[in-house]
Amino acid sequence: MAGKGEGPAIGIDLGTTYSCVAVWQHDRVEIIPNDQGNRTTPSYVAFTDTERLIGEAAKNQVAMNPVNTVFDAKRLIGRKFSDPCVQTDMNLWPFKVILGPRNKPMIVVSYNGEEKQFAAEEISSMVLTKMKEIAEAYLGSTVKNAVITVPAYFNDSQRQATRDAGLIAGLNVLRIIVEPTAAAIAYGLERISNIKGNKKNVLIFDLGGGTFDVSLVNIEEGFFEVKAISGDTHLGGEDFDNRLVNHFVQEFKRKHNNKDISGNPRALRRLRTACERAKRTLSSAAQTSIEIDALFEGIDFQSTITGPRFEELNMDLFKKCIEAVENCLRDAKMDKSNVHDVVLVGGSTRIPKVQQLLQELFNGKELCKSINQDEAIAYGAAVQAAILGGGIGNEKIRDLVLEDVTPLSLGVHSMGKVMTVLIPRNTPIPTKKERVFNTTVDDQTIAEILVYEGERARSKDNNLLGSFDLCDIPPGPKGVARINICFDIDANGILNASAEVKSTGQKSKITTTCNKGRLAKEEIERMIEAAERYKFQDEQYRKKVKAKIALENYTYSIRNRLNDNKVNAGLHPADKKKTEDAIEHSLEWLQRNHLAEANEFEDKMKELENIWNPIVVGKHRPGGDVGWGRMKGYIVRNCNRYKLKLGMT
Ligand code: ADP
Ligand code: MG
Repeated sequence: MAGKGEGPAIGIDLGTTYSCVAVWQHDRVEIIPNDQGNRTTPSYVAFTDTERLIGEAAKNQVAMNPVNTVFDAKRLIGRKFSDPCVQTDMNLWPFKVILGPRNKPMIVVSYNGEEKQFAAEEISSMVLTKMKEIAEAYLGSTVKNAVITVPAYFNDSQRQATRDAGLIAGLNVLRIIVEPTAAAIAYGLERISNIKGNKKNVLIFDLGGGTFDVSLVNIEEGFFEVKAISGDTHLGGEDFDNRLVNHFVQEFKRKHNNKDISGNPRALRRLRTACERAKRTLSSAAQTSIEIDALFEGIDFQSTITGPRFEELNMDLFKKCIEAVENCLRDAKMDKSNVHDVVLVGGSTRIPKVQQLLQELFNGKELCKSINQDEAIAYGAAVQAAILGGGIGNEKIRDLVLEDVTPLSLGVHSMGKVMTVLIPRNTPIPTKKERVFNTTVDDQTIAEILVYEGERARSKDNNLLGSFDLCDIPPGPKGVARINICFDIDANGILNASAEVKSTGQKSKITTTCNKGRLAKEEIERMIEAAERYKFQDEQYRKKVKAKIALENYTYSIRNRLNDNKVNAGLHPADKKKTEDAIEHSLEWLQRNHLAEANEFEDKMKELENIWNPIVVGKHRPGGDVGWGRMKGYIVRNCNRYKLKLGMT
């Protein structure tokens, strides 16, 4: 339960392409807009020679800085470098990923003129920090506690790595919950009274920016259980954008002498941004246009696209989505007539054709889209956060109980190279299971315990989560010493495995967390410390920019005053010259020193004040040509302490 004085607990949908944050307030969920007024924020982090950018600001500069703009961190988190998914994705990313210690993928960027390496947890922590700050700005209080969502197929290491990202961002992660469950909560909340006493099968259709997940969730008496999952890890809004991009590249060729823009990354990125916008418009309009000035070799590009043409370009992808739904139902051995509700989640389900095909599959059934598609997951996470954060006695959510299941079976490597399952797949969590094993050779004193997840019989076909040694087994004939292995999965889906010798009354016990590929405690601490340092650097940078702008404003305002005839006429020619020189000097200095430190800008400001003040104060006391009221306006705006120094009001 969250501590007091830590602000409300928030729900964060940490998406592959976009993230969303929500909070339970005033008896309902509020989706929190970012500083640009948008309710979802790009999961992008960018590094430049001078600063670090997160969210909108990072995505906006991607065309100029592709190699140092990182996205898709969710595709890397908790995975090993050698993972085939990582190897495939790496070839598609403009940023560099290298092999780090313990087979961890590390992202390499240039930041402040230096080469830096970041783990995916660190990049995700930066996005989480942004979401935390968005919430803090909105709520006007600090935020400490959060529920974060992950896809249903995320394994233990991916869930744990997401939790670590929260930790690095300075969040107390109350719980990691799976996205379809969060969506089901959002949905269940609306109809909680109907659910009581009856059983519902809900199909969650989540088509986002780069991934597509279908889940069948069973809801009974306020319990949620994920029954089956399906989907495609590389299918989503970005693919639809790409189809549009290719379409316009061909059109450009036809219109402009076979000129091919596909070799020009900057032109392609600008076209892609315009295509995403056009795609969004087509979800609510029959036709839209795109216009890009000087797209390629100085040629302006203008064109239009209709809804039907967009659908035609993407029809095979849309059909793939429908096939995945059929697979999911087949896996769950459920007829579509037994699905009570179909819930739309993810920004791409706003596309009318996608909705139409899905509705047809379910024989015209009305789809649930009462909650904004790209906000449903954060909505559910916020409800869960409110329950776990405590202090909420709201009737609407008090009765809600959340049940998660293990996505894969968990077991240990045993005789015959097979995996012996301790916890079968789809077991509700938290759970604890024990099983006794024997030594397999005479005088065995050490047993290596290998922990696997997966559904295959042979260990080597499954995924090795981690291993640990059980030492000090009393020597004796094989089969005598009895080893008790215990798997304990907490409410976050995180596995703790332990083993204990039981044979002779002597106890030897080792408890360990499966942490292969995970960050060590010291590494997390180092990253937390680094995160604070980056935050400090960001603040310093902002301060610097503020000081620079203040100096610029001040310089220009003096120049404006000087150009004002009334002021000008009252000045001694020598003072005028002195001021003009000072302005000239200040502007020139600014141009040469745009990377100076905040205190240098402040010193320059003081220098200028020391020249200008005696001149203007001497000539224009109240009652003179220029009223103090007006003077005060800009002086106070530029520099608060000035008002005190003058004491003239
Ligand atoms: P994530 O996959 O990161 O969870 P979202 O669920 O927020 O992300 O989906 C983001 C995708 O939704 C983007 O590709 C975006 O272009 C797309 N999208 C958002 N709004 C619309 C819309 N009105 N019409 C079509 N696509 C949209
Ligand atoms: Mg999503």
